[in-house]
Amino acid sequence: MNYQELAGRAIAGSHISQAEANDLINTPDSELFALLTAAEKIRRHFKGNKVKLCGIVNAKSGRCSEDCSFCAQSAHHKTDCQVYPLMNKNELVEAAKSAEKNMSATCFSFVTSGKTIHSDPELRTLGSALSTITSETNLNRCVSLGTLNLEQIKQLKQSGLKRLHHNLETAESYFDKMCTTHSYAERLGTIRLAKEAGLDTCSGGIFGLGETPEQWVEFALTLRELNVESVPINILNPIPGTPAAADHHPMPPFEVLKLVATYRFILPSKDIGVFGGREKALGSLQPLMFIAGANVTLVGDYLTTKGQSAEKDLQMISDLGLEIDRAPH
Ligand code: SF4
Repeated sequence: MNYQELAGRAIAGSHISQAEANDLINTPDSELFALLTAAEKIRRHFKGNKVKLCGIVNAKSGRCSEDCSFCAQSAHHKTDCQVYPLMNKNELVEAAKSAEKNMSATCFSFVTSGKTIHSDPELRTLGSALSTITSETNLNRCVSLGTLNLEQIKQLKQSGLKRLHHNLETAESYFDKMCTTHSYAERLGTIRLAKEAGLDTCSGGIFGLGETPEQWVEFALTLRELNVESVPINILNPIPGTPAAADHHPMPPFEVLKLVATYRFILPSKDIGVFGGREKALGSLQPLMFIAGANVTLVGDYLTTKGQSAEKDLQMISDLGLEIDRAPH
């Protein structure tokens, strides 16, 4: 396969086809580095040597009514995940400020468990925290609150929200194996409403649940069609007590790298992040995620699992000759 020729086409703005993407995702191991070099060329063209760092806080944890198979916070699964209500405004603001000051985060998201935000007081608390972060930090402001209606999205935008995160999680053809309590269409609807409200959108998912590589491609093509600005890739870190942990086959590091590189070819100009599970899935090959095309990662802890230290991440970025993108959002 001529990876460089395909990279040239992606840089020139021409879409690669589903068949070509399926060939990329099935790259033989012996050609992995040819694939990575070509993906890196695309990343460098659109992103230079800059990377973005996201921070998150699990602002409300546990007791979710939904049954997503991988999730520690679902009330359907027996896990030892923490359960607490929405943090207060000061706690939310402090979490954001600390991520900016101590971890060099450039974007920060409040993430809540549950299908949606159920009460106006919760929305007001989040809005008030967003207003303070807008005036007192340089952070790009993001939230991940589940399904939202247009009115709720507009209210948050007025408080300073820039980006709505809402993962589709997986390909439509695999979704009913991952979740039975809500539909793919519902998730698509929230992303479309965020776009209608004029927000940036961030949507990706979790990989390694049992999907096929062709379903990873199908998923990326949906994200391309939706024109989301940012795509987080999480690799399943199986949580004891969740259905996804019961029959888990870890993704080998080469497979993760092929996934990231193929996403860079399909979504050449978008932000692509490798987030949860990267330490475990990539092991000593972790820095190669940036060569494979990622230009975003998450610093600090994930929602219910620990991440590696921010110092280690910053060192990895600097060792690769990359810089943190501190441009105002
Ligand atoms: S992923 Fe979100 S919606 Fe699904 S169970 Fe977890 S908290 Fe609930």
